[in-house]
Amino acid sequence: MKTVEQHISDVLRLVEPLPPIELDLLRAHGSVLAEPVTSPVSLPGFDNSSMDGYAVVAADLAGAAEDRPVRLPVVADIPAGDASAAAIRPGHCARIMTGAPMPAGADAVVPVEWTDGGQAEVLIGRAPAPGNAVRRAGEDVREGTTVLEPGVRIGAAEMAVLAAVGRKAVRVHPRPRVVVLSTGAELVEPGSPIGPGQIWESNSYMLTAAAIDAGCAAYRHGFVGDEPEEVLSTLDDVLVQADVIVTTGGVSMGAYDVVKEVLSGLGTVAFDKVAMQPGMPQGAGTVGPSRTPILTLPGNPVSSFVSFQLFVRPALRKLRGLVPAPLPTVHARLAAAVRSPKGRRSYLRAVLAYDGLEGGPAYTARPAVRQGSHQLSALAETNALVVVPEDATELPSGAVVEVLRLPARD
Ligand code: AMP
Ligand code: MG
Repeated sequence: MKTVEQHISDVLRLVEPLPPIELDLLRAHGSVLAEPVTSPVSLPGFDNSSMDGYAVVAADLAGAAEDRPVRLPVVADIPAGDASAAAIRPGHCARIMTGAPMPAGADAVVPVEWTDGGQAEVLIGRAPAPGNAVRRAGEDVREGTTVLEPGVRIGAAEMAVLAAVGRKAVRVHPRPRVVVLSTGAELVEPGSPIGPGQIWESNSYMLTAAAIDAGCAAYRHGFVGDEPEEVLSTLDDVLVQADVIVTTGGVSMGAYDVVKEVLSGLGTVAFDKVAMQPGMPQGAGTVGPSRTPILTLPGNPVSSFVSFQLFVRPALRKLRGLVPAPLPTVHARLAAAVRSPKGRRSYLRAVLAYDGLEGGPAYTARPAVRQGSHQLSALAETNALVVVPEDATELPSGAVVEVLRLPARD
C-alpha cells in the first residue's frame, strides 16, 4: 500500500497549470491571473475632492469660526467629470462635488456641512487645514506600478482593481474543464423509477458540484454501465472536452470493476491501494492522444467524496495555476472516542465547532455516528475530516487530533 502523500504527489505529477488565455474581465471571474498587471496611469489620475463642498485657498479662511464666518464669492461650479480646468484666485472659491477635479489655485475643500450652502456666495464657519478633503493624484497607485501579481485569483476585489486600471481583458489560466463519469450497472438517473437492486446515481452529481465549488467548469457526463466497450467509447467521447477526467466506481477488486479493466489495458493508469479509509482503491494516469489526466475514484459515495478532497482538489488547484495546497488543518479535541484500522489513515466525517480561546485547542470535533463509506447521510452536516494516524487504532474522547476543514459553503 502507498501512503496518502505518495498518491497526492503521483496525482500532482500528472497535471500542469493550464496555458494562459486572454479573457474579458467578467469571463475571467474565478480564474487565476497569469500576468502581472501594471497601471498605465496614476490613481487618482488628478487631484480631486473627496467631499461635496467648496474648493478654497486655505489661507483665506485662517480666522473662520462659527461665530465669525468668512464670506467668499462662488466663481465656479465643478461637477464630477468636469473637464473645463477651472481655476480660482485668492479670495474666491468654487462649488465642487465629490470626485471633481480640484481647480488650479485651490488647496483645500470645505465640506458643505461647514457652510450655509450658498451658490453665489457662501458663508464658511470653520477653517480647513491645507489639503483638507483633497485626494492627491497617485496617492492610491503610482503610474507603472504592479497592482496584481500572477497567481492571484480574480474575485470581486481583483475585478475592481483590474477595471480601475483600465483593463478590459486579462491573461488568465482558464477554469479547468472537468468531466465527471460514473460507472455501475446498478445506477439509475434520479427522477426515474428504480427497480430491485438498483440505486439512484449520486456520485457524479456530488463530484460535479465539488469541482464547480473548486473553481472549475465541470461537466457531468452521467454514468455508464459495467461493459468495457461502453466505458472505453464514452471515455473516447469525452476526451476532447476534458482537461481532466474524474471517474467513480469500478476500481476495486470485484469481477465487474470495469474502469480498472479497461484502463489497465491502455497501460498508462496505475491502480494502487492507498493506506487510508475510506478510499483505499485509487487510480491515476493519462488517457488518449493528448494524455488527458484521469483520476479514478472508488464508487462508495463517501470514499469518492474524501478522495476528491484529498487528491482531486489539489490537482484542480494546480491546473488553475494555484499552489496545490491541501485543505487547511486545525487541531481539535475529540468529542467522542473513535476507532481506526491499523496501518491505514482514517478520515472521519465530523462537525467542527469553535468554542473560544479558553485552555487548549479552540475547536471541538464531533465525529459523525455513521462512518460507513456508503453512509452518505452524515456527509451533509459534515464540515471537517478528523485525521486518525496510521498507527492509531483508537483514540479516546478528549484526544487532540488534526482536523481538515472542508471548503466553506456560503
Ligand atoms: P464500486 O466501486 O463500483 O464497486 O462501487 C462501490 C459501491 O458504491 C457500490 O455499493 C455501488 O453501488 C456504489 N456506487 C458506485 N457508484 C456509485 C454512484 N455513482 N452513485 C452512488 N453509488 C455508487
Ligand atoms: Mg461498480
